[in-house]
Amino acid sequence: LIELRDVNKHFGQLHVLQDINLAVGRGEVVVVIGPSGSGKSTLCRAMNRLETIESGRITIDGQPLPEEGKALAKLRADVGMVFQSFNLFAHKTVMANVSLGPVKVRGLKKEEAERRSRELLDRVGLADQASKFPAQLSGGQQQRVAIARALAMDPKVMLFDEPTSALDPEMINEVLEVMQQLAAEGMTMVVVTHEMGFARSAANRVVFMADGRIIEDRSPDDFFTDPRTDRAKDFLSKIL
Ligand code: ATP
Ligand code: MG
Repeated sequence: LIELRDVNKHFGQLHVLQDINLAVGRGEVVVVIGPSGSGKSTLCRAMNRLETIESGRITIDGQPLPEEGKALAKLRADVGMVFQSFNLFAHKTVMANVSLGPVKVRGLKKEEAERRSRELLDRVGLADQASKFPAQLSGGQQQRVAIARALAMDPKVMLFDEPTSALDPEMINEVLEVMQQLAAEGMTMVVVTHEMGFARSAANRVVFMADGRIIEDRSPDDFFTDPRTDRAKDFLSKIL
């Protein structure tokens, strides 16, 4: 579904993505882990063209990523993204946050978009919060709204960049449960997270990055029981 081939990117002198090769199949859940600064966020952002790349190819369903205009807006809808910092529209209600995108980008009628949004809010356990504003919700609730908003676009794949890192501990599970359910329903997902419980139970593959490179790409069982590289062993010894 998504394929990156020999992808390279620098920030100035820093080689943040070095010869990245990664293929994510339909229905696959790939967890990306690695030390701070290893390029995980840049990798995610490149997949929906929030970052440009200097060389290599990224394709979705065999098509290269569009560069601008309507096609780019459609790409961002096809590749849903959930960030650490929720990124909701502060001055819009929960319902508006979830339902506006489908109207603007997918051309749904307002009533249809709101009907679907209600279903999605119900799915993430927020059916009763539709008329609230983001600031009136907890962090965990806001993040579930952000997930519903991305899902409302009917994406082909969902990218999550440390979706629980900004949350108080008691709210982490409510977000992970929604993600776990999505995974079980067959959503294609790329998830940057340090939640190793989620990686073990939901991931088909764990991709370990260091210094802009993918240095391990393996099943969670193999990776956690027998990391091959010293970098991965060292990383795991610090977080487990
Ligand atoms: P973290 O775990 O801290 O989120 P990460 O693996 O997501 O780290 P990236 O955010 O992809 O890492 O950043 C990789 C490197 O690129 C870091 O050294 C970062 O400082 C640098 N970097 C990221 N964005 C930019 C930018 N817009 N301009 C310059 N340097 C950047
Ligand atoms: Mg990051």
